[in-house]
Amino acid sequence: MLQNPKNTICITGGAGFIGCNLIHLLIKEFSVKIINIDKLTYAGNLESLQDIQDNERYIFEKVDICDNVQISKILEKYKPIAFLNLAAESHVDRSIDSPDEFIKTNILGTYNLLECIRNYYKNLNDTQKSEFRFLHVSTDEVFGSLGKNDYFTEKTAYQPNSPYSASKASSDHLVRAWQHTYGIPTLITNCSNNYGPYQFPEKLIPLNIYNALQNKPITIYGNGSNVRDWIFVEDHCRGILEVLVNGSVGESYNIGSNNEKNNLELIELICKLLDEIQPRPDSKSYKEQITFINDRLGHDQRYAIDASKMKNNLKWESKESLESGLRKTIDWYLNNSSWLKSIMSVEYQGQRLGISV
Ligand code: NAD
Repeated sequence: MLQNPKNTICITGGAGFIGCNLIHLLIKEFSVKIINIDKLTYAGNLESLQDIQDNERYIFEKVDICDNVQISKILEKYKPIAFLNLAAESHVDRSIDSPDEFIKTNILGTYNLLECIRNYYKNLNDTQKSEFRFLHVSTDEVFGSLGKNDYFTEKTAYQPNSPYSASKASSDHLVRAWQHTYGIPTLITNCSNNYGPYQFPEKLIPLNIYNALQNKPITIYGNGSNVRDWIFVEDHCRGILEVLVNGSVGESYNIGSNNEKNNLELIELICKLLDEIQPRPDSKSYKEQITFINDRLGHDQRYAIDASKMKNNLKWESKESLESGLRKTIDWYLNNSSWLKSIMSVEYQGQRLGISV
């Protein structure tokens, strides 16, 4: 599917963090044509795709996924063989401050895509129908919070706790229902926390790399004991493509990297790497800048993915260790300070989010 230059795939949210990494990977290693559909919210940034903007295999469409007229036009115009939905409001803290956009984009937007695709799909011929896939990118946060020793599998019951995860859970259910009821060939991926190049600096890792280098407080919510299972974004993107090409229609796949760390351990590792890569002018450790701040409301304690279905059924495994992935990430932010600065001067200045309740 992906090595045939005659094929076109649509990707929503391609100007965001995971979307732009996915597009870079597709341009570099595959042959399909890519239509990037993005509304360009505060999190969408075309600078992240500047290097490929003139590539003949890449087209950008500034469209809201809630706009049924424009989405239907795109489907008719480009006749994609696959449609990957990454567009979303993605930050838990912002969902606590103002859930509205999360309900609109994550739930109603996904509903709109499914309806437009239902219309498009029914007019495809049998061969096209057998090839077409709608892949919905989701999160492990839909499963809620874990105790000390268990893991999320594809059979874990949904128990979302934040407005963000509830909106993603709703969208997953819609995707499942459109497959079951209308026969749309859908796939769902539920992935753990991503990090890597081009991540918007409101998220824990890029924010604190920025804070460290600016000699600002490196902030940790609560006592830093919350555990996340970190995956390097390129590993996630390869997992998505594996599911797209070889996944079984109607199924969901948990994507994770087996890199559990609590937030304090993670930040201490970043400080250790920064001490080595870009020592502070006074030669003290960046750990001196660590500051604990009020916890997030309803903060889930632990997420951890059992990715054995990806390994056993699709032969996919992540390649990057947490340390090697963080090294690449730190190097990227050091070498792309202008990307970071342009966001910090317009969209976001590092302020605390999620406390306006
Ligand atoms: P992001 O916030 O960096 O990017 C989201 C993109 O979607 C932006 O480019 C934005 O402009 C676009 N967008 C938002 N609303 C839109 C709309 N109505 N119409 C069209 N475009 C719109 O998010 P991300 O971190 O790249 O996440 C991508 C997807 O992966 C999301 O669905 C998210 O839930 C999921 N996910 C993220 C993580 C993670 O750790 N970042 C983990 C698991 C799953």
